[in-house]
Amino acid sequence: MLLEVRDLHVEFRTRDGIAQAVNGVSYGVDAGETLAVLGESGSGKSVTAQAVMGILDSPPGRITGGQILFQGRDLLRLKEEERRRIRGAELAMIFQDALSALNPVLTVGDQLGEMFIVHRGMSRKDARAHAVALMDRVHIPGAAHRVRDYPHQFSGGMRQRIMIAMALALEPALIIADEPTTALDVTVQAQVMDLLAELRREYRMGLVLITHDLGVVADVADRIAVMYAGRVVESAPVHDIYKAPAHPYTRGLLDSVPRLDQKGGRLYAIKGLPPNLMAIPSGCAFHPRCPLARDVCRTDVPPLHTVAKNRASACHFWKECLHDRD
Ligand code: SF4
Ligand code: MG
Repeated sequence: MLLEVRDLHVEFRTRDGIAQAVNGVSYGVDAGETLAVLGESGSGKSVTAQAVMGILDSPPGRITGGQILFQGRDLLRLKEEERRRIRGAELAMIFQDALSALNPVLTVGDQLGEMFIVHRGMSRKDARAHAVALMDRVHIPGAAHRVRDYPHQFSGGMRQRIMIAMALALEPALIIADEPTTALDVTVQAQVMDLLAELRREYRMGLVLITHDLGVVADVADRIAVMYAGRVVESAPVHDIYKAPAHPYTRGLLDSVPRLDQKGGRLYAIKGLPPNLMAIPSGCAFHPRCPLARDVCRTDVPPLHTVAKNRASACHFWKECLHDRD
């Protein structure tokens, strides 16, 4: 495994109490593989990613347990200096909002070039040439000229390509993309996703794709980890999940995605709201919203059951869920 998160716990101290943002998350991604981490906002998917990157705001955020193994080494036990080196060269992150992630007062050429100067010891001239090549690689038209432009001079989609170029610059082993296309319109979303998929194949990187939108992952992900209330509640190869989910929450997410073959039908919406992380429901955290919930769900936390090879579900009644579809 390239990255393996094991039983990670993260809490946030707030004025109103302690929010349990991540409650024992485990997931892994191999080289050349794309893992989609799916969940509503507040499910802990971004916080887990920030813990992996070592960019959690601390305080108030605090890792209270678990391991983050990257290329076999536990990142949580490394010295800050070593972590910083890995973060620069081996791990990269793409954020939803490129405009605030890029430096507004530097040209994109200078920002891209800076990576090569700092990490590769290149001359300014060589760094500039590499920046242009990289902008070409992410299909920015007229890269040789646009290298002198500032971030605000690009469209949202083009800016996201520049972020991808920044992430790619040092050819990291793993990229984490947190809602990389959420701010873009649908056509541009698809183009940026295609680009990510293409680059992931070419560079044989691992990719963790964080999203709340099941619609965008079908074509790009190999596996899906579905998160709820700071835990992974189902993990499986992407096609298995689409064929038959083994967790009622996943089924709810699937049924709320518009399908081309079901025009006109009303979309299903999962009832209720995501849980308050300062008062996570007892037993299965999903029970107040679950159509299959029974007494045991209110008292007993469901363990992660093995459903099949490479497939797991944290539901007491996963068998029922699996066989109940349609
Ligand atoms: Fe629903 Fe119970 Fe399964 Fe939780 S354990 S998802 S409440 S059936
Ligand atoms: Mg988020």
